[in-house]
Amino acid sequence: MANVPVIRNPAGRYAPSPSGDLHIGNLRTAVLAWLFARSTGRRFVLRIDDLDRVRPGAEQRQLADLAAIGLDWDGPVVRQSDRLPHYQAAIDRLTADGLTYECYCTRREIQQAATAPHGPLGHYPGTCRDLTETERAAHHTDGRPAALRLRAHAREFEITDELHGRYRGPVDDVVLRRGDGIPAYNLAVVVDDAEQGIDQVVRGDDLLPSTPRQAYLATLLDLPVPHYAHVPLVLNAAGKRLAKRDGAVTLGDQLALGNTPDRVAAALASSLGYPPVSPAELLDGFDPAYLTEEPWILDENGLLQPARCP
Ligand SMILES: [Zn+2]
Repeated sequence: MANVPVIRNPAGRYAPSPSGDLHIGNLRTAVLAWLFARSTGRRFVLRIDDLDRVRPGAEQRQLADLAAIGLDWDGPVVRQSDRLPHYQAAIDRLTADGLTYECYCTRREIQQAATAPHGPLGHYPGTCRDLTETERAAHHTDGRPAALRLRAHAREFEITDELHGRYRGPVDDVVLRRGDGIPAYNLAVVVDDAEQGIDQVVRGDDLLPSTPRQAYLATLLDLPVPHYAHVPLVLNAAGKRLAKRDGAVTLGDQLALGNTPDRVAAALASSLGYPPVSPAELLDGFDPAYLTEEPWILDENGLLQPARCP
């Protein structure tokens, strides 16, 4: 039954959504993902998670910015929008295993029906999980588009994270295919990571709460669960996640002020507690054991500069 692919040439990855320019926090996470992969002999692949929120030109600018700060990657850039049949195959398999059901709820209905206090992920209360054939047929007659959900048989799942150690989090009946027919992010990343040989996932620690459900989904598809490292975010002076309105927060903003890509890369290095050098020069001394779990507070409206100058 188990059909776990053997990963011969494992990889790490960076997978931005092309919804706008990368900001300093995104670039810093990308540098870390690159360092984790390259320092462990892995390939490093770029994937564009473009199933929604695509802004024209954003992908090209993101790739240019990543290259400008000294990152490189292996093989062609993969776009999720080119991989829809792969996601459908995974959905078909889960359906054949009796692990899916149609959900007709609107977002508003889900919010109203949720009785238990739900966390930031907004747990689905299971309204449509056990509908009768008659009830389902009535919904079909209504013409309301159905989402497809996972019929989860676990409430929690535990993962191991390089920075956070053992982390147990909720598993629920996550959406696999949205009402508009587009595969859901949680499914797509699981399928992609496995098929691309990605066994190391480095990303912002705001995504840690959704990781147990993705790992659980991988096990249902007989796919290997990657190694995870959820790295600290860059926050603004108010302690909130960095946003475009927080000043000169993109590489483009910085260059417009007269900064250079090398100097921005050096500032990222020093924010990680390393000498102000390029990503390539960081490789030899990179050790995840010394990474902090604390966010980097960026209170910077002018030129981004290394904390310690050479
Ligand atoms: Zn529902």
